[in-house]
Amino acid sequence: MFCNQCEQTAKGIACTKIGVCGKTEAVAGLEDLLTHAVQGLCIVAEAGRKVGVVDNAVDRFTAEAIFACLTNVDFDPKRFEDWIRKTVTLREELKAKVEAAGGSIDSTAAALTFTPADSSAGLEEQGSALNFITTLDANEDLQSLKQITMYGMRGLAAYADHAAILGQEDDEVYAFIHHAMAAITTDMELGDLVALCLKTGEVNIRAMELLDAGNTGTYGHPVPTSVPLGHIPGKCILVTGHDLKDLDSILQQTAGKGITVYTHGEMLPCHGYPELKKHKHFYGHFGTAWQNQQKEMPKFPGAIIFTTNCIQKPADSYKDAVFTTGLVGWPDVTHIGDDKDFGPAINKALSMDGFTDEVDNGSVMVGFARNTVLGVADKIIEGVKSKAIRHFFLLGGCDGAKPGRNYFTQMAEEIPSDCMILTLACGKFRFFDKDLGDIGGIPRLLDVGQCNDAYSAIQIAVALAGAFECGVNDLPLSFVLSWYEQKAVVILLSLFSLGIKDIRLGPSLPAFVTPNVLDVLVENFNVMPIGETATDDLKTILG
Ligand code: SF4
Ligand code: SF4
Repeated sequence: MFCNQCEQTAKGIACTKIGVCGKTEAVAGLEDLLTHAVQGLCIVAEAGRKVGVVDNAVDRFTAEAIFACLTNVDFDPKRFEDWIRKTVTLREELKAKVEAAGGSIDSTAAALTFTPADSSAGLEEQGSALNFITTLDANEDLQSLKQITMYGMRGLAAYADHAAILGQEDDEVYAFIHHAMAAITTDMELGDLVALCLKTGEVNIRAMELLDAGNTGTYGHPVPTSVPLGHIPGKCILVTGHDLKDLDSILQQTAGKGITVYTHGEMLPCHGYPELKKHKHFYGHFGTAWQNQQKEMPKFPGAIIFTTNCIQKPADSYKDAVFTTGLVGWPDVTHIGDDKDFGPAINKALSMDGFTDEVDNGSVMVGFARNTVLGVADKIIEGVKSKAIRHFFLLGGCDGAKPGRNYFTQMAEEIPSDCMILTLACGKFRFFDKDLGDIGGIPRLLDVGQCNDAYSAIQIAVALAGAFECGVNDLPLSFVLSWYEQKAVVILLSLFSLGIKDIRLGPSLPAFVTPNVLDVLVENFNVMPIGETATDDLKTILG
């Protein structure tokens, strides 16, 4: 086993026996094998496009299969086995169509002829024998760039999949996924790989745009909304993950059943969407970021539904109340299939005690996505011009368990009162409930949304730059980002593709970035690790 794709990788180098995330050696091998098999499918799909053979089922499946390998998505070996076999079936079917259309497949990649073993144990052996990561390229810098592309692809595939679920697709996104996955099976020069990484970021902006259109087109633009952090008496369901459509289905299926629906983790911003908040039994938010699940979820007296990542090993104390759906999965946890019949979770919730008391833990505000923030752009611009607003910080990203992440709490606390903070993703749970006051009636802490709403944050920055007739790099705006998994990797690539510089990244730099590749990134984008303390970094940023 060798996996170093996320920030919590063992010793900052790689997980080699079992994942810090709980991923077993067997699942790690199956993920590698699935990625290898998907590369074969992508080679065929790319050849197919040249002769007009485009198969939307293949497009959707490749996005799903790549997303499934993102950190904390699926830990169930059985599902990886099914995906591996389906990949090879689709590859052979597509190959026949491409050849019938007169296409030729110009590749000798092993992925193209890979045949899955018949047994589960055989597949695990194949996965382990691949040494997938360490053999991506003999040159460590080229291997690093191929890893960056592949991990970026996992984030990009996640956004493309979320968007497709809401009916938003663009063949150019799928075409690029196929191209990039095929390309990294070939020998490439450093410059070409750097360009491929940046192109990954650029195409990801389109995928995020599609997702934004899917979310806002279906559920309306988020509006400022106060979300209670306590609870009310009654049966209850907790919904975590990132998928708005699943939440909508759950809200519809629980209507009139005496169940209150709460959000957890990255579902918090869902309270701001008009078409979701209209449900009277959609009440409040419970808990914080993904890494606190085992501490917080035993205290929830109802069913818990994971709509996507990030799942942690469910403790025995609440495992039988947990349900997964979509790509997220855990062995022996009930999985709600594509029919989206949440009946088993609803019945479980009805059989449990629910909350017996009412607790008021205050509230937080959500709903400051691009439409809301740009709706008060004139006030913001005036605030900057009159010097009431000195600086903006984009402070957010993924959360995680490392003690060094306290930096982000400290940063939020120490940012002076004449500065505004835009935040998004689960990193905000370090400071989301702090009352940071307002500037001229605009809250200083603006929750833009999920990690899936990074497009919204980028649009705000681009619009402000337009209003001030300058580039994003010339704005009084600093990016201080926490990363954990591969959506963060692709968002970083998207920011690079827009030419955004001086990003501070923490709590540690990715283990899969070699010193030489880091030099290239520093030279071109002046990306830098967060400093020892937020206090020192603030002094530097604000001069
Ligand atoms: S996803 Fe992260 S924690 Fe899990 S095995 Fe890979 S590097 Fe380790
Ligand atoms: S921001 Fe990243 S780490 Fe946090 S819940 Fe979303 S995918 Fe997971």
